[in-house]
Amino acid sequence: MKMFPSLGGLLLTSLALSGQAPVSVLVPPADPQIVAALGDVSAPRIQQTVQKLVSFGSRHTLSSEVSASSGQGINAAAEWIKGELESYSKDCGGCLEVKTDEFTQEPANRVPKPTKLTNVYAILRGSDPANASRIVLVSGHYDSRNSETNDATGPSPGANDDGSGTAVSIECARVLSKHKFPATIIFLIVAGEEQGLYGSAHFAKMAKAQGWNIEAVLNNDIVGGDKSAGQDRHTVRVFSEGIPLALTKPNLATSASSSTDTAVRELRGQGRENDSPSRELARYIGLIDSAYLAKSGFRSLMVFRPDRYLRGGDQTSFNEQGFAAVRFTEYRENYNHQHQNVRTENGVEYGDLAKFVDYSYVANVTRLNAATLASLAAAPAAPAQVRILTKALVNDSTLAWGPSPGGLASGYVVLWRDTGASQWEHSQTFGNVTQATIPLSKDNVFFALQATDSKGHRSLSVIPVPER
Ligand SMILES: [Zn+2]
Repeated sequence: MKMFPSLGGLLLTSLALSGQAPVSVLVPPADPQIVAALGDVSAPRIQQTVQKLVSFGSRHTLSSEVSASSGQGINAAAEWIKGELESYSKDCGGCLEVKTDEFTQEPANRVPKPTKLTNVYAILRGSDPANASRIVLVSGHYDSRNSETNDATGPSPGANDDGSGTAVSIECARVLSKHKFPATIIFLIVAGEEQGLYGSAHFAKMAKAQGWNIEAVLNNDIVGGDKSAGQDRHTVRVFSEGIPLALTKPNLATSASSSTDTAVRELRGQGRENDSPSRELARYIGLIDSAYLAKSGFRSLMVFRPDRYLRGGDQTSFNEQGFAAVRFTEYRENYNHQHQNVRTENGVEYGDLAKFVDYSYVANVTRLNAATLASLAAAPAAPAQVRILTKALVNDSTLAWGPSPGGLASGYVVLWRDTGASQWEHSQTFGNVTQATIPLSKDNVFFALQATDSKGHRSLSVIPVPER
């Protein structure tokens, strides 16, 4: 098999093999179209969105009995979000399909009686018929709560939790709808999170049942950068699951052979417990961050756990259905400003108020989300059937794969890292081939493969499975 290493790849390989620090060819080149979209992200617009959301008094899921015409409650908020997305669509000649996913949640934990839930979403349909069925999705939850789990109408401003994540999804829709991408982007805003992830669970199950090809889910929840002492204004945490939740539930396991025991045994045997699709998504975000936000000093901090202790989020609903999904959350949370009745006690202010949110921080989180969505939607599909050939005991490593479906790929990037490293460290670019050999022992490093197009848009990375 012939190989066509690029110049950058050759340079990198020689440096990598001589023990030099990782070289920037790992990081994709910045696409001017994406840079333009990021320049369009507006902190003042995000502030307006959050303040508007707060103005509905309470967006508690159980306030869905309150009529939207009162201008208060979750229905009014849903109407406003829908109208906002529709206005962006009008600006782009109807490029967004604005929809609702409405259903009745039957009584359950934290839902005392049948309750109407409405998820709102907009679809920016992919411009390439061969790639439009590929979907990347950004999400936030617009429901809010105060100290009482089931207080439907008491003030629950929910500026940070999760007005901020809602604003990220809405602002991504606004700036990305001015551009075209081969694959589809969905901007989702869900209800029912605080009562038990009911909105996202319904949406994710619908997506699974209808066979949607969702490649990545970016869930934003508490990304306000609360302005209290100890906050790191330049860091957003990205949480990702290790052992996929879907593998631990045999009835949900994605591959027919994947009984829980078999699947976990395979992960253990191959040392793949740190390379779930969600974790590859987190690593992808880290590289996108370097490509587009390095100059601003804004960075993503990968946290290798599904979520924070005692807390959960909508990414879990998608993980449960077998989709790659991560959670963005500010670096340091102020628990006086979450799930609290608005009040002052002993000079301490409680409540999730708009004044505690750092809007330029939310704008940076939005840029990181938008850059990730745009890069994935512009990129070729990930290569298929990626294998590492293990039948011969040799000290180099051969990967083989099927071509990236959809016709966008012009080449492939082999990534590798030390087994103790958290992020990919090295890469080598190849032309339009389906096999490559790297002069390193597969026993000593982890490998992955991305597809790339001629402009350097990279697919998500795929971990090879051993082929004997
Ligand atoms: Zn939340």
